[in-house]
Amino acid sequence: VPVTEFAAERAWLGAAGYAEQVLVGVGADGLITSVERDVEVLPPDATRLPGLLLPGLVNAHSHAFHRALRGRTHTGAGDFWGWREQMYTVAERLDPDSYLALATAAYAEMALAGITTVGEFHYLHHAPSGARYDDANAMGRSLVEAGRRAGVRVVLLDACYLTADVDGSALAGPQLRFGDGSATAWADRVDALTDDLPHVGAAVHSVRACPPDAMRDVAAWAQARGAPLHLHLSEQRRENDACLAAYGVTPTRLAADTGVLGPRTTAVHATHLTTDDIGLFGEANAAACLCPTTERDLADGVAPVPSLLDAGSGLCLGSDSHAVVDLLEEARAVELDERLVSERRGTLSPERLLAAATAGGSRSLGTLGGAIAPGCPADLVTLRLDTVRTAGAPDGSEVLGAVVFGASAGDVSHVVVDGRLIVEDGQHLLIEDVPGLLDRSVRAAMS
Ligand SMILES: [Zn+2]
Repeated sequence: VPVTEFAAERAWLGAAGYAEQVLVGVGADGLITSVERDVEVLPPDATRLPGLLLPGLVNAHSHAFHRALRGRTHTGAGDFWGWREQMYTVAERLDPDSYLALATAAYAEMALAGITTVGEFHYLHHAPSGARYDDANAMGRSLVEAGRRAGVRVVLLDACYLTADVDGSALAGPQLRFGDGSATAWADRVDALTDDLPHVGAAVHSVRACPPDAMRDVAAWAQARGAPLHLHLSEQRRENDACLAAYGVTPTRLAADTGVLGPRTTAVHATHLTTDDIGLFGEANAAACLCPTTERDLADGVAPVPSLLDAGSGLCLGSDSHAVVDLLEEARAVELDERLVSERRGTLSPERLLAAATAGGSRSLGTLGGAIAPGCPADLVTLRLDTVRTAGAPDGSEVLGAVVFGASAGDVSHVVVDGRLIVEDGQHLLIEDVPGLLDRSVRAAMS
Protein backbone atom coordinates (compact mmCIF):
# COMPACT_ATOMS: atom_id res chain seq x y z
CA VAL A 1 0.00 0.00 0.00
CA PRO A 2 1.55 3.33 -1.01
CA VAL A 3 2.00 5.87 1.77
CA THR A 4 3.27 8.59 -0.56
CA GLU A 5 2.57 9.39 -4.17
CA PHE A 6 4.72 11.37 -6.59
CA ALA A 7 3.30 12.78 -9.80
CA ALA A 8 5.10 13.90 -12.95
CA GLU A 9 3.82 15.02 -16.32
CA ARG A 10 6.81 13.57 -18.16
CA ALA A 11 9.19 10.78 -17.22
CA TRP A 12 11.79 8.32 -18.42
CA LEU A 13 11.22 5.18 -16.39
CA GLY A 14 14.35 3.25 -17.41
CA ALA A 15 13.80 0.02 -19.35
CA ALA A 16 10.07 0.85 -19.58
CA GLY A 17 10.96 3.95 -21.57
CA TYR A 18 9.37 7.36 -21.92
CA ALA A 19 5.98 8.01 -20.31
CA GLU A 20 3.59 10.85 -19.56
CA GLN A 21 1.15 11.59 -16.73
CA VAL A 22 2.99 9.29 -14.35
CA LEU A 23 1.98 8.47 -10.78
CA VAL A 24 4.53 6.68 -8.57
CA GLY A 25 3.34 5.04 -5.34
CA VAL A 26 5.89 4.52 -2.56
CA GLY A 27 5.54 2.32 0.51
CA ALA A 28 6.67 2.99 4.07
CA ASP A 29 9.87 1.02 3.33
CA GLY A 30 10.85 3.54 0.62
CA LEU A 31 10.27 1.05 -2.18
CA ILE A 32 8.12 1.79 -5.20
CA THR A 33 4.80 -0.05 -4.98
CA SER A 34 3.17 1.07 -8.23
CA VAL A 35 3.85 3.03 -11.39
CA GLU A 36 0.89 4.24 -13.41
CA ARG A 37 1.21 6.06 -16.72
CA ASP A 38 -1.29 8.01 -18.84
CA VAL A 39 -3.18 9.01 -15.69
CA GLU A 40 -5.78 11.44 -16.92
CA VAL A 41 -5.89 13.65 -13.83
CA LEU A 42 -2.88 13.49 -11.50
CA PRO A 43 -4.16 13.62 -7.91
CA PRO A 44 -3.64 17.06 -6.35
CA ASP A 45 -2.40 15.59 -3.05
CA ALA A 46 0.47 13.74 -4.75
CA THR A 47 3.88 15.43 -4.46
CA ARG A 48 4.36 17.12 -7.83
CA LEU A 49 7.79 16.57 -9.43
CA PRO A 50 8.22 19.34 -12.03
CA GLY A 51 10.00 18.81 -15.34
CA LEU A 52 11.29 15.47 -16.60
CA LEU A 53 11.34 12.67 -14.02
CA LEU A 54 14.23 10.17 -14.17
CA PRO A 55 15.45 7.35 -11.95
CA GLY A 56 18.02 8.65 -9.44
CA LEU A 57 21.44 9.04 -11.03
CA VAL A 58 24.17 6.65 -9.90
CA ASN A 59 27.73 7.87 -9.56
CA ALA A 60 29.62 4.59 -9.67
CA HIS A 61 33.09 5.98 -8.99
CA SER A 62 33.98 8.66 -6.47
CA HIS A 63 36.93 9.61 -4.32
CA ALA A 64 35.26 12.16 -2.04
CA PHE A 65 38.47 13.88 -0.96
CA HIS A 66 39.42 14.74 -4.55
CA ARG A 67 36.74 17.44 -4.39
CA ALA A 68 39.33 19.59 -2.61
CA LEU A 69 41.43 19.55 -5.81
CA ARG A 70 38.77 21.27 -7.91
CA GLY A 71 40.07 24.47 -9.40
CA ARG A 72 43.60 23.81 -8.16
CA THR A 73 45.03 21.16 -10.46
CA HIS A 74 43.70 21.72 -13.98
CA THR A 75 46.24 24.17 -15.30
CA GLY A 76 49.87 23.52 -16.12
CA ALA A 77 51.58 20.77 -18.05
CA GLY A 78 52.21 17.11 -17.29
CA ASP A 79 50.04 14.03 -17.01
CA PHE A 80 48.26 11.73 -14.54
CA TRP A 81 51.45 11.05 -12.60
CA GLY A 82 52.15 14.71 -11.90
CA TRP A 83 48.53 15.27 -10.89
CA ARG A 84 48.82 12.32 -8.51
CA GLU A 85 51.50 14.15 -6.54
CA GLN A 86 49.10 17.08 -6.03
CA MET A 87 46.37 14.67 -5.01
CA TYR A 88 48.67 13.09 -2.42
CA THR A 89 49.17 16.44 -0.70
CA VAL A 90 45.44 16.47 0.15
CA ALA A 91 45.50 12.79 1.07
CA GLU A 92 48.17 13.55 3.67
CA ARG A 93 46.12 16.15 5.53
CA LEU A 94 42.75 14.61 6.26
CA ASP A 95 41.61 13.00 9.50
CA PRO A 96 38.26 11.39 10.30
CA ASP A 97 36.68 14.73 11.31
CA SER A 98 37.92 16.83 8.40
CA TYR A 99 37.11 13.98 6.03
CA LEU A 100 33.57 13.81 7.38
CA ALA A 101 33.08 17.53 6.69
CA LEU A 102 34.63 17.40 3.22
CA ALA A 103 32.76 14.25 2.16
CA THR A 104 29.45 15.60 3.50
CA ALA A 105 29.92 18.68 1.33
CA ALA A 106 30.97 16.62 -1.69
CA TYR A 107 27.98 14.29 -1.37
CA ALA A 108 25.65 17.24 -0.85
CA GLU A 109 26.89 18.65 -4.14
CA MET A 110 26.14 15.27 -5.70
CA ALA A 111 22.62 15.26 -4.25
CA LEU A 112 22.01 18.68 -5.81
CA ALA A 113 23.21 17.16 -9.11
CA GLY A 114 20.57 14.42 -8.92
CA ILE A 115 22.89 11.67 -7.70
CA THR A 116 21.09 9.34 -5.30
CA THR A 117 23.72 6.58 -4.99
CA VAL A 118 27.47 6.92 -4.98
CA GLY A 119 30.14 4.22 -5.18
CA GLU A 120 32.92 5.50 -2.95
CA PHE A 121 36.24 3.92 -3.92
CA HIS A 122 37.91 4.20 -0.53
CA TYR A 123 41.62 3.82 0.10
CA LEU A 124 42.41 6.65 2.57
CA HIS A 125 42.26 4.22 5.48
CA HIS A 126 44.73 5.00 8.22
CA ALA A 127 46.61 7.81 9.95
CA PRO A 128 49.29 9.50 7.82
CA SER A 129 52.09 7.34 9.23
CA GLY A 130 50.10 4.21 8.41
CA ALA A 131 49.17 3.75 12.08
CA ARG A 132 45.64 2.56 12.80
CA TYR A 133 43.05 4.88 14.26
CA ASP A 134 41.38 3.51 17.40
CA ASP A 135 38.68 2.30 15.07
CA ALA A 136 40.63 1.03 12.06
CA ASN A 137 37.58 1.89 9.94
CA ALA A 138 37.22 5.47 11.22
CA MET A 139 37.78 7.00 7.79
CA GLY A 140 35.34 4.64 6.06
CA ARG A 141 32.73 5.33 8.72
CA SER A 142 33.19 9.07 8.13
CA LEU A 143 32.28 8.48 4.48
CA VAL A 144 29.17 6.51 5.34
CA GLU A 145 28.10 9.13 7.89
CA ALA A 146 28.73 11.84 5.29
CA GLY A 147 26.34 10.07 2.93
CA ARG A 148 23.72 9.87 5.69
CA ARG A 149 24.02 13.61 6.38
CA ALA A 150 23.84 14.50 2.69
CA GLY A 151 20.92 12.13 2.10
CA VAL A 152 22.60 9.96 -0.54
CA ARG A 153 23.22 6.22 -0.46
CA VAL A 154 26.93 5.43 -0.20
CA VAL A 155 28.25 2.07 -1.33
CA LEU A 156 31.65 1.88 0.33
CA LEU A 157 34.07 0.07 -2.00
CA ASP A 158 36.98 -0.57 0.32
CA ALA A 159 40.20 -0.87 -1.65
CA CYS A 160 43.10 -3.17 -0.92
CA TYR A 161 46.28 -1.15 -1.44
CA LEU A 162 49.56 -2.88 -0.64
CA THR A 163 52.34 -1.82 -3.02
CA ALA A 164 53.58 1.37 -4.63
CA ASP A 165 53.87 -0.06 -8.13
CA VAL A 166 53.66 -3.19 -10.27
CA ASP A 167 57.22 -4.08 -9.30
CA GLY A 168 56.05 -4.73 -5.74
CA SER A 169 57.89 -1.76 -4.25
CA ALA A 170 56.85 -0.80 -0.72
CA LEU A 171 54.45 2.00 0.10
CA ALA A 172 56.17 5.19 1.17
CA GLY A 173 55.32 8.76 2.14
CA PRO A 174 51.70 9.73 1.50
CA GLN A 175 50.81 6.18 0.40
CA LEU A 176 51.55 4.73 3.85
CA ARG A 177 48.07 5.48 5.11
CA PHE A 178 46.46 3.56 2.24
CA GLY A 179 47.96 0.22 3.20
CA ASP A 180 46.81 -2.68 5.38
CA GLY A 181 50.02 -4.68 4.98
CA SER A 182 48.36 -7.79 3.58
CA ALA A 183 45.16 -8.89 1.89
CA THR A 184 44.31 -10.85 5.05
CA ALA A 185 44.58 -7.73 7.22
CA TRP A 186 42.51 -5.84 4.64
CA ALA A 187 39.80 -8.53 4.78
CA ASP A 188 39.76 -8.57 8.60
CA ARG A 189 39.26 -4.81 8.69
CA VAL A 190 36.55 -4.80 6.01
CA ASP A 191 34.72 -7.70 7.66
CA ALA A 192 34.27 -5.44 10.70
CA LEU A 193 32.50 -2.95 8.41
CA THR A 194 30.18 -5.50 6.84
CA ASP A 195 28.97 -6.47 10.35
CA ASP A 196 26.90 -3.30 10.66
CA LEU A 197 26.79 -1.53 7.28
CA PRO A 198 24.49 -2.59 4.44
CA HIS A 199 26.44 -1.40 1.42
CA VAL A 200 30.05 -2.53 1.51
CA GLY A 201 31.95 -3.80 -1.50
CA ALA A 202 35.54 -4.60 -2.33
CA ALA A 203 38.14 -3.01 -4.54
CA VAL A 204 41.54 -3.92 -5.86
CA HIS A 205 43.04 -0.46 -6.10
CA SER A 206 44.89 -1.41 -9.29
CA VAL A 207 47.47 -3.90 -10.54
CA ARG A 208 49.99 -1.34 -9.28
CA ALA A 209 48.78 -1.61 -5.69
CA CYS A 210 47.87 -5.30 -5.44
CA PRO A 211 50.16 -8.21 -6.36
CA PRO A 212 48.43 -11.18 -8.06
CA ASP A 213 48.06 -13.19 -4.85
CA ALA A 214 46.30 -10.27 -3.17
CA MET A 215 44.08 -9.80 -6.23
CA ARG A 216 43.09 -13.45 -5.88
CA ASP A 217 42.31 -13.00 -2.17
CA VAL A 218 40.20 -9.87 -2.66
CA ALA A 219 38.30 -11.53 -5.52
CA ALA A 220 37.59 -14.54 -3.30
CA TRP A 221 36.39 -12.27 -0.49
CA ALA A 222 33.96 -10.50 -2.83
CA GLN A 223 32.84 -13.76 -4.43
CA ALA A 224 32.08 -15.35 -1.05
CA ARG A 225 29.89 -12.38 -0.07
CA GLY A 226 28.30 -11.68 -3.45
CA ALA A 227 29.75 -8.18 -3.11
CA PRO A 228 30.61 -5.76 -5.90
CA LEU A 229 34.29 -5.65 -6.84
CA HIS A 230 35.90 -2.63 -8.47
CA LEU A 231 39.38 -1.86 -9.74
CA HIS A 232 41.16 0.91 -11.60
CA LEU A 233 42.27 -0.62 -14.87
CA SER A 234 44.50 0.55 -17.72
CA GLU A 235 43.87 4.25 -17.22
CA GLN A 236 47.43 4.87 -18.29
CA ARG A 237 49.67 3.16 -20.84
CA ARG A 238 52.48 3.14 -18.28
CA GLU A 239 50.47 0.74 -16.12
CA ASN A 240 50.06 -1.60 -19.09
CA ASP A 241 53.77 -1.46 -19.90
CA ALA A 242 54.76 -2.16 -16.28
CA CYS A 243 52.30 -5.05 -16.04
CA LEU A 244 53.57 -6.61 -19.27
CA ALA A 245 57.15 -6.24 -18.03
CA ALA A 246 56.41 -7.81 -14.64
CA TYR A 247 53.95 -10.57 -15.56
CA GLY A 248 53.98 -10.82 -19.36
CA VAL A 249 50.24 -10.06 -19.55
CA THR A 250 48.00 -7.00 -19.69
CA PRO A 251 46.23 -5.75 -16.53
CA THR A 252 42.93 -7.09 -17.91
CA ARG A 253 44.39 -10.56 -18.51
CA LEU A 254 45.93 -10.50 -15.02
CA ALA A 255 42.52 -9.55 -13.58
CA ALA A 256 40.89 -12.41 -15.49
CA ASP A 257 43.56 -14.91 -14.43
CA THR A 258 43.25 -13.97 -10.75
CA GLY A 259 39.46 -14.20 -10.69
CA VAL A 260 39.01 -10.45 -10.37
CA LEU A 261 37.11 -10.09 -13.64
CA GLY A 262 33.58 -11.43 -13.14
CA PRO A 263 29.90 -10.51 -13.41
CA ARG A 264 29.97 -8.33 -10.27
CA THR A 265 33.19 -6.59 -11.36
CA THR A 266 33.55 -3.04 -12.59
CA ALA A 267 36.78 -1.88 -14.17
CA VAL A 268 37.18 1.87 -13.83
CA HIS A 269 38.49 3.75 -16.90
CA ALA A 270 39.34 0.67 -19.06
CA THR A 271 41.00 3.13 -21.40
CA HIS A 272 43.91 1.37 -23.05
CA LEU A 273 42.67 -2.13 -23.91
CA THR A 274 43.74 -4.71 -26.46
CA THR A 275 41.26 -6.66 -28.59
CA ASP A 276 41.95 -9.65 -26.36
CA ASP A 277 41.20 -7.54 -23.25
CA ILE A 278 37.87 -6.42 -24.69
CA GLY A 279 36.88 -10.04 -25.33
CA LEU A 280 37.67 -10.86 -21.70
CA PHE A 281 35.23 -8.16 -20.52
CA GLY A 282 32.48 -9.82 -22.53
CA GLU A 283 33.35 -13.37 -21.41
CA ALA A 284 33.33 -12.28 -17.78
CA ASN A 285 30.14 -10.22 -18.17
CA ALA A 286 32.03 -7.45 -16.38
CA ALA A 287 31.35 -3.71 -16.61
CA ALA A 288 33.41 -0.68 -17.49
CA CYS A 289 33.00 2.56 -15.56
CA LEU A 290 33.91 5.63 -17.58
CA CYS A 291 34.72 8.94 -15.94
CA PRO A 292 35.13 11.14 -19.01
CA THR A 293 35.46 14.52 -17.29
CA THR A 294 38.31 13.18 -15.18
CA GLU A 295 39.85 11.23 -18.04
CA ARG A 296 40.00 14.32 -20.22
CA ASP A 297 41.30 16.45 -17.33
CA LEU A 298 44.14 13.98 -16.78
CA ALA A 299 44.86 13.44 -20.49
CA ASP A 300 44.19 9.70 -20.12
CA GLY A 301 42.65 8.84 -23.47
CA VAL A 302 39.27 7.52 -24.65
CA ALA A 303 38.00 4.03 -23.86
CA PRO A 304 36.89 1.76 -26.74
CA VAL A 305 33.22 1.94 -25.77
CA PRO A 306 31.58 0.51 -28.93
CA SER A 307 33.87 -2.54 -28.88
CA LEU A 308 33.26 -3.07 -25.16
CA LEU A 309 29.48 -2.90 -25.64
CA ASP A 310 29.65 -5.21 -28.68
CA ALA A 311 31.60 -7.70 -26.55
CA GLY A 312 28.84 -7.62 -23.92
CA SER A 313 30.40 -5.38 -21.28
CA GLY A 314 28.22 -3.36 -18.94
CA LEU A 315 28.63 0.42 -18.82
CA CYS A 316 28.37 2.89 -15.96
CA LEU A 317 29.63 6.37 -15.13
CA GLY A 318 31.59 8.08 -12.39
CA SER A 319 32.78 11.55 -11.45
CA ASP A 320 36.03 10.13 -10.00
CA SER A 321 38.15 13.24 -9.24
CA HIS A 322 35.12 15.56 -9.17
CA ALA A 323 36.69 17.99 -11.60
CA VAL A 324 33.01 18.15 -12.58
CA VAL A 325 30.03 16.70 -10.68
CA ASP A 326 27.44 16.34 -13.42
CA LEU A 327 26.40 12.89 -14.62
CA LEU A 328 24.66 14.37 -17.65
CA GLU A 329 28.03 15.80 -18.69
CA GLU A 330 29.67 12.39 -18.11
CA ALA A 331 26.91 10.70 -20.13
CA ARG A 332 27.10 12.95 -23.18
CA ALA A 333 30.89 12.91 -23.05
CA VAL A 334 30.88 9.16 -23.69
CA GLU A 335 29.10 9.74 -26.99
CA LEU A 336 30.83 13.01 -27.87
CA ASP A 337 34.32 11.61 -27.22
CA GLU A 338 33.39 8.64 -29.41
CA ARG A 339 32.41 11.06 -32.20
CA LEU A 340 35.85 12.64 -32.05
CA VAL A 341 37.55 9.26 -32.18
CA SER A 342 35.37 7.61 -34.84
CA GLU A 343 34.30 10.65 -36.87
CA ARG A 344 30.75 9.26 -36.66
CA ARG A 345 27.72 10.46 -34.71
CA GLY A 346 25.06 8.53 -32.86
CA THR A 347 26.90 5.46 -31.57
CA LEU A 348 25.13 5.63 -28.21
CA SER A 349 21.51 6.79 -28.04
CA PRO A 350 20.27 9.13 -25.30
CA GLU A 351 18.45 6.16 -23.74
CA ARG A 352 21.65 4.12 -23.71
CA LEU A 353 23.53 6.98 -22.05
CA LEU A 354 20.80 7.48 -19.45
CA ALA A 355 20.86 3.74 -18.76
CA ALA A 356 24.60 4.00 -18.04
CA ALA A 357 23.87 6.85 -15.61
CA THR A 358 21.17 4.86 -13.79
CA ALA A 359 20.70 1.08 -14.17
CA GLY A 360 24.31 0.52 -15.23
CA GLY A 361 25.50 2.12 -12.01
CA SER A 362 23.04 0.20 -9.87
CA ARG A 363 24.21 -3.06 -11.36
CA SER A 364 27.82 -2.08 -10.79
CA LEU A 365 27.23 -1.25 -7.13
CA GLY A 366 24.99 -4.24 -6.42
CA THR A 367 22.04 -2.08 -5.40
CA LEU A 368 18.47 -2.54 -6.50
CA GLY A 369 17.06 0.11 -8.73
CA GLY A 370 18.18 2.26 -11.58
CA ALA A 371 14.59 2.25 -12.77
CA ILE A 372 11.22 3.67 -11.79
CA ALA A 373 9.48 0.34 -11.34
CA PRO A 374 7.72 -1.57 -8.56
CA GLY A 375 10.18 -3.09 -6.10
CA CYS A 376 12.92 -0.54 -6.79
CA PRO A 377 13.92 2.03 -4.17
CA ALA A 378 12.05 5.27 -4.76
CA ASP A 379 15.11 7.16 -6.00
CA LEU A 380 13.78 9.91 -8.22
CA VAL A 381 15.20 13.02 -9.83
CA THR A 382 13.61 15.69 -11.95
CA LEU A 383 15.19 18.06 -14.45
CA ARG A 384 13.47 21.38 -15.06
CA LEU A 385 12.42 21.95 -18.64
CA ASP A 386 12.00 25.71 -18.23
CA THR A 387 15.60 26.83 -17.62
CA VAL A 388 17.79 28.71 -20.07
CA ARG A 389 19.35 25.41 -21.11
CA THR A 390 16.19 23.34 -21.44
CA ALA A 391 13.41 25.77 -22.43
CA GLY A 392 11.97 24.85 -25.81
CA ALA A 393 12.77 21.15 -25.45
CA PRO A 394 10.74 18.99 -27.84
CA ASP A 395 7.55 17.15 -26.91
CA GLY A 396 7.46 13.40 -26.52
CA SER A 397 10.46 11.13 -26.10
CA GLU A 398 12.72 13.46 -28.07
CA VAL A 399 13.09 15.36 -24.82
CA LEU A 400 15.61 12.69 -23.78
CA GLY A 401 18.08 13.88 -26.39
CA ALA A 402 17.46 17.45 -25.29
CA VAL A 403 18.35 16.76 -21.67
CA VAL A 404 21.26 14.39 -22.34
CA PHE A 405 22.92 16.83 -24.73
CA GLY A 406 21.65 20.15 -23.39
CA ALA A 407 20.87 19.99 -19.68
CA SER A 408 23.23 20.18 -16.74
CA ALA A 409 23.35 19.39 -13.03
CA GLY A 410 22.12 22.94 -12.48
CA ASP A 411 18.76 21.96 -13.97
CA VAL A 412 18.05 19.39 -11.24
CA SER A 413 14.96 20.43 -9.34
CA HIS A 414 13.77 17.66 -7.00
CA VAL A 415 15.61 14.62 -5.64
CA VAL A 416 14.02 11.76 -3.73
CA VAL A 417 16.06 8.99 -2.07
CA ASP A 418 14.27 5.96 -0.62
CA GLY A 419 11.00 7.84 -0.92
CA ARG A 420 12.30 10.85 1.03
CA LEU A 421 12.54 14.29 -0.53
CA ILE A 422 16.18 15.46 -0.21
CA VAL A 423 16.25 18.32 -2.70
CA GLU A 424 13.30 20.60 -3.52
CA ASP A 425 13.39 23.33 -6.15
CA GLY A 426 17.19 23.03 -6.27
CA GLN A 427 17.55 23.49 -2.51
CA HIS A 428 19.10 20.82 -0.31
CA LEU A 429 16.63 20.15 2.49
CA LEU A 430 19.16 18.64 4.94
CA ILE A 431 22.07 21.06 4.45
CA GLU A 432 21.13 24.69 4.24
CA ASP A 433 24.26 26.14 2.64
CA VAL A 434 26.05 23.57 0.48
CA PRO A 435 28.43 26.08 -1.20
CA GLY A 436 29.38 27.41 2.25
CA LEU A 437 30.07 23.92 3.55
CA LEU A 438 32.14 23.15 0.45
CA ASP A 439 34.12 26.35 0.89
CA ARG A 440 34.88 25.77 4.56
CA SER A 441 35.69 22.08 4.25
CA VAL A 442 37.88 22.46 1.18
CA ARG A 443 39.82 25.33 2.75
CA ALA A 444 40.26 23.31 5.94
CA ALA A 445 41.56 20.36 3.92
CA MET A 446 44.00 22.51 1.96
CA SER A 447 45.38 24.57 4.88
ZN1 LIG B 1 39.48 6.64 -9.33
